[in-house]
Amino acid sequence: MSKKDYYELLGLSKSAGEAEIKKAYRRLARQYHPDANQDDKNAEEKFKEVSEAYEVLSDTQKRAQYDQFGHAAFQEGQGYGGFQGGYGGGPFEDIFNMFTGRGFSEDDIFGMFHGGGQTRQKKGPEKGNDLRYDLEVEFIEAAFGVEKEIQIMRAENCPECNGTGAQKGSSPKTCPKCGGSGQVKYAQNTMLGQFVNIKTCDECHGAGEVNEDPCHNCHGTGRIRRKRKIKVKIPAGVDTGYRIRISGEGEPGIRGGGSGDLYIFIHVKSHEIFKREGNDIFCNMTVTFAQAALGDEIEVTTLEGHSKFNLPAGTQNGKVYKLREEGIPAFRGRRGDLYFEIQVETPTDLSKDQRELLMQFAEVRGEKIKPSEDKEKGFFKKVKDALGGS
Ligand SMILES: [Zn+2]
Ligand SMILES: [Zn+2]
Repeated sequence: MSKKDYYELLGLSKSAGEAEIKKAYRRLARQYHPDANQDDKNAEEKFKEVSEAYEVLSDTQKRAQYDQFGHAAFQEGQGYGGFQGGYGGGPFEDIFNMFTGRGFSEDDIFGMFHGGGQTRQKKGPEKGNDLRYDLEVEFIEAAFGVEKEIQIMRAENCPECNGTGAQKGSSPKTCPKCGGSGQVKYAQNTMLGQFVNIKTCDECHGAGEVNEDPCHNCHGTGRIRRKRKIKVKIPAGVDTGYRIRISGEGEPGIRGGGSGDLYIFIHVKSHEIFKREGNDIFCNMTVTFAQAALGDEIEVTTLEGHSKFNLPAGTQNGKVYKLREEGIPAFRGRRGDLYFEIQVETPTDLSKDQRELLMQFAEVRGEKIKPSEDKEKGFFKKVKDALGGS
């Protein structure tokens, strides 16, 4: 169930302006409104999709996030990655709780990539940037959880000047260009006349202060880039698309603002035997013709090793059996199941004796068969005879 592109839903191009978005939404909302389409499930679904698309695209910040990260920017607990809801706040809540000790709010989702959603104010504290790290984990690691050490490059406050950018002994001075306001006015001439515009001061970048003697270590930026090793605890049961937030491990805030967070995006590698769907896993199990016909105690490969299974006599090729709770451990509640499909193997390397036994077997069952190998042998024999061989 891949989500439709928000722009596509509204029939817009990526460059659509605010007015266009509003117009498209109004038109479609009227068309699919539940009042106008009673008992029409499709229309209701469409109405929801269109409203969701509008909610994001009409909000500048959400739209920017969507443009950059797509639907991944707004993943919530519902029905994602095979988890069909059912346990309260969804799987994300568990992951977030683990690190922050609190619930998962809408602020967490929308605050992700732009520092908490507060409007920028001159000189006010600003939360640091959040960081994203894409982490590949093995199938088994995702199933049972693992602790990993990752290495990230991030900006940190310069230890020499504590992030102020001013050399020790000097202090920041009021910006001469904007007089400390952080903003400058400039006139713009257009066909309609002259306008006075306000923009962020490019001398102090809106801070209102400049360093007369910049820190020698960070060249006045207050930041240095550093490699950091960070331990990440991956909980059992994660799947591709899950994110883990590590609070405060993003980039440092500005003017006393808190650090951003680090988000670990999980990518689970495929497994050579198992395929995963939600918390259930699937594999093939090869048995011989004799095992399938007579039944046998077989060993099925599981995530933890092997499990004995009594294969019933007369098992057909393609039959699927289930081992309860041998799938992926869930965050909460029941563990998934393991399904295996029987593949009956036809022997290809029969010896002379084995062939004869099978021929007898067929005869006893009243099957009249003309083995194809006999024809080939016959043909070669004829050639040999023709050449005068033995
Ligand atoms: Zn300035
Ligand atoms: Zn410095």
